Amino acid sequence: MKSKYSIPLVNLKLQYKSIKKDIDKAMSSVIKDTDFIMGEGVKFFEEAFSQLTGAKYTIGVSSGTDALFLALQALGVKPGDEVITTTHTFVATASTISMCGATPVFVDIDPKTYNIDPKRIEEKITRKTKGIIPVHIYGQPADMDPIMKIAKKHKLFVLEDAAQAHGALYKGRSVGTIGDAATFSFYPGKNLGAYGDAGAVVTNSESIAQTIRLLRNHGRREKYTHDILGYGSRMDTLQAVILLVKLKHLRKWNKRRREAASLYNDLLKNVPVIIPFEPKSIESVYHLYAIRVEGRDGVYEGLRKAGIEVGIHYPVPLHLQPLFQPLGYKEGDFPQAEVLSKETLSLPIFPEITKSDIKKVVSSLKNVLKRTD
Ligand SMILES: *Cc1c(COP(=O)(O)O)cnc(C)c1O
Repeated sequence: MKSKYSIPLVNLKLQYKSIKKDIDKAMSSVIKDTDFIMGEGVKFFEEAFSQLTGAKYTIGVSSGTDALFLALQALGVKPGDEVITTTHTFVATASTISMCGATPVFVDIDPKTYNIDPKRIEEKITRKTKGIIPVHIYGQPADMDPIMKIAKKHKLFVLEDAAQAHGALYKGRSVGTIGDAATFSFYPGKNLGAYGDAGAVVTNSESIAQTIRLLRNHGRREKYTHDILGYGSRMDTLQAVILLVKLKHLRKWNKRRREAASLYNDLLKNVPVIIPFEPKSIESVYHLYAIRVEGRDGVYEGLRKAGIEVGIHYPVPLHLQPLFQPLGYKEGDFPQAEVLSKETLSLPIFPEITKSDIKKVVSSLKNVLKRTD
């Protein structure tokens, strides 16, 4: 099917073309061996991903959502507990807290980085608080040093939601190795994407790693011995071998995303939009390139009509989602995240995007802004 957009938000077809031979070979070998569940490829991928992050353990699971759910369980989250997180994220960051019977407690964002505002965390801590989930939103690491300091002081766990940030660096350290554990998503459109659903938990703790291994596979220690209540949340071998092929290209692909972001930054200098802010000592991997623009909804429509597929991440902050209304939040509770949700606009970015694509996006944006003046 041909896309109705001349420049898509992400282009997975182009990427497949560039690695087709290796992907097809890896997949057909799994199919030939009928080694579909917990096959060798899963172990190989886990080892390779540990090398990328530098964490001791990687446990492949069936999605980023399951990674969060299992990690929260392994960290001991129980009914009645509270877990602090940002309101500006994908729903799974918080819904998995609720799935454990615990309560997500939302915090506003830093208006420049769009990540959880560390200055707003301590006021939310109660006797029920068990941990904090910072999210490295859009591929940019959250400000981990103050978060770790607060966690240590109050004896809380830190679980990094790194679903959008494979390979990103915070003060030279790879995301996923700073908190007690971290979760990754390999949803197809993520910086490292499977051909279906997949995810991983990463940790330096042997006991957390062991618990996750049990949880993902029915609490199974041996074939007919089930130690704890577990789930069917395994990463399948086909996804693992696809990810293994793609992992070899991740650094190069992330570098191209950073180059694309830097070209956008240059071209948008005199355009009335706010470009992403990247603090010194942080290396974002630009899962998304999100600008802020007044009259966002009109600009969104205008660009889509011009054949540019733009996105919105996210139009409704979690504290205002119907799902979380029983928690009693209301409009005005988190002004920074609320304004951002009305202004944020994701421009096309993917490793294969060309300079002329980017120039075209920017000139279309200028045209649309002129018209909506
Ligand atoms: C994609 C994503 C998830 C969920 O991952 P899935 O693999 O789609 O289940 C969780 N958190 C964030 C921030 C995400 O972007």
